[in-house]
Amino acid sequence: SATPATLSAISNGAKNGVLFKGGAAMEALSSMDILYSDKTGTLTFGEFQVIEHEMDREILKEVVYIEQQSTHPIADAIVAAFKDIDLDSVDQREPVEEIAGSGIKKGEIIVGKPSIFDTYNDPDNYRGKITAGYTTVFVGIDDQIVGYFTLADQIRDESAEAVAGFQAEKIKVSLITGDNEMVAKKVANEVNVDDYFANCSPEDKIKFVQENQAMGQVVGMIGDGINDAPALANADIGIAMGSGSSVAMESADVVIVKNNLAKLLYSFKLSQKLNKIII
Ligand code: ADP
Ligand code: MG
Repeated sequence: SATPATLSAISNGAKNGVLFKGGAAMEALSSMDILYSDKTGTLTFGEFQVIEHEMDREILKEVVYIEQQSTHPIADAIVAAFKDIDLDSVDQREPVEEIAGSGIKKGEIIVGKPSIFDTYNDPDNYRGKITAGYTTVFVGIDDQIVGYFTLADQIRDESAEAVAGFQAEKIKVSLITGDNEMVAKKVANEVNVDDYFANCSPEDKIKFVQENQAMGQVVGMIGDGINDAPALANADIGIAMGSGSSVAMESADVVIVKNNLAKLLYSFKLSQKLNKIII
């Protein structure tokens, strides 16, 4: 059970909007060697704007209906951008299925990241619409790409400073994202992480965590999405953003209520002092 010093640190964390689910979580944080961070919704706000799109109007209606069933930040942006569209003509009998970390589908219609359409035909050259630094989502029907959206997100104000703060404490910070290489690189450069990996599936994220654990490292993982939940559960210290999906918060040991990474850094420093008291 937790010592009085640990309990006091947990209560201090709570006052600062960092909720620890127990003493073990606080103690694990104090010995963290590496922090893996998701991108969308974690280092960035995860509040996308649709800045470009192209597709048949009837397909757009299908997509808006499909995205209404998703909790992904990209889905929220698409639904918001076309909130006045009339969905009466959409067949709502077919179930909508989320493909964690990749997209979402209803029957033969799929909306998601470009890499899941690698084997699709592209008669209108939508692949040429992929723009450096932006997130592109394709719409596919059967074996053909039939439209795209370009979306923009923004890096959270405190991300770069918090990353630098962890690095100053000798914690390696590594970005792992399901998004494409160009966006990953841009965000990695702007927040100055030690390294980055793009196009990661939820399973890839688990693999990064486990490989480092096998080398004897105490691994932290921070994320917000259903795609992050398995890695959060596997990490020695799983950290969820308060704005994240409920499954991410359930899988985590720590929740950052106001999504502010600087608060986690503060808790980390506090947990380190605690370690010194115990020793
Ligand atoms: P990150 O790891 O950066 O948080 P995600 O794993 O959540 O990113 O998503 C990876 C990619 O999968 C997104 O960039 C997007 O292209 C695609 N994607 C995921 N969910 C959806 C959705 N509901 N609609 C469209 N695209 C999606
Ligand atoms: Mg995310």
